[in-house]
Amino acid sequence: MYAPGDVRVEDRTDPQIREATDAIIRLSATCVCGSDLWPYRGADPIDRPSPMGHEYAGIVEEVGSEVRNVRPGQFVVGSFFASDNTCDICRAGYQSSCIHRVGIGGEGAQAERMRVPLADGTLVATPEVPHADLVPSFLAASDVLGTGWFGAVAAEAGPGKIVAVVGDGAVGLLAVLAAQQLGAERIIAMSRHQDRQKLAMDYGATDIVTERGDEGVARVKDLTNGLGAHSVIEAVGTQESMMQAIRATRPGGHVGYVGVAHDVALPGEELFFSHVHLHGGPAPVRRFLPDLMDRIWNGRIDPGKVFDLELPLDQAAEGYRAMDSRQAIKVLLRP
Ligand SMILES: [Zn+2]
Ligand SMILES: [Zn+2]
Repeated sequence: MYAPGDVRVEDRTDPQIREATDAIIRLSATCVCGSDLWPYRGADPIDRPSPMGHEYAGIVEEVGSEVRNVRPGQFVVGSFFASDNTCDICRAGYQSSCIHRVGIGGEGAQAERMRVPLADGTLVATPEVPHADLVPSFLAASDVLGTGWFGAVAAEAGPGKIVAVVGDGAVGLLAVLAAQQLGAERIIAMSRHQDRQKLAMDYGATDIVTERGDEGVARVKDLTNGLGAHSVIEAVGTQESMMQAIRATRPGGHVGYVGVAHDVALPGEELFFSHVHLHGGPAPVRRFLPDLMDRIWNGRIDPGKVFDLELPLDQAAEGYRAMDSRQAIKVLLRP
């Protein structure tokens, strides 16, 4: 990305093993993330032409001399933060705050090949190379599924709970899927777009709320005897969406916030009296990857349905345009 709205596909030097703990993978598929739209729309600064992309699934080509857990030929998935998976923070399940974490964005996953640091801690392999039909779902596990899942876990979605989801992008839709898999009793999806409402219903939503902001909150309260939901997942990252999530949660309930916060300021006094739990942040996708990949491998979930447009990698700029204009929910790029 050269500047807001300016994405170009260019030849870069091939990635090399730099540390003994690195792996080089050949991407089977990659994609554009909702969070890539922040710089694309000028909301995040771009100082210099930057490689893009942090979601990846592919075949290991080469490993450094200290890598033990993955080997060339395996199909692997990793998260947008590389992590050692051994430090105290990782072992507590917060690999995206690993004391040795490395952001994948700097490597640029929207590419044919990429370097993955801390390969042993970061990459999870499938039992065998999966059929091509499963690749989109594994790619979804790299970020949007893992992020939606963390949102649902942070919001304590589960049996007996009424869950509401703010945001109908890929993360919000997969948070619906996560809530369903975690056994939620009722799932309210907040969406104004018919195609997204349909996918939300496919993934287990029981109610659709089209209103947003305070009207959206009022509709959630109407649906919950005036109390609000037990669990609300926030998957946008704006002031409006965050307040919508907090206000739609009943006292004692939980908000799981996974939309990357942009200029969000929380009112202390309202929070104080809300009795709402808040937990979120960059999802520790690595915590959930083995379980999620097992569910995909066994055909129990189909998160790849969020990819409603597939383009060759050299048309990445078109992919950004389609997501920016909301013509596509999520764009898969084939190297
Ligand atoms: Zn992402
Ligand atoms: Zn760690």
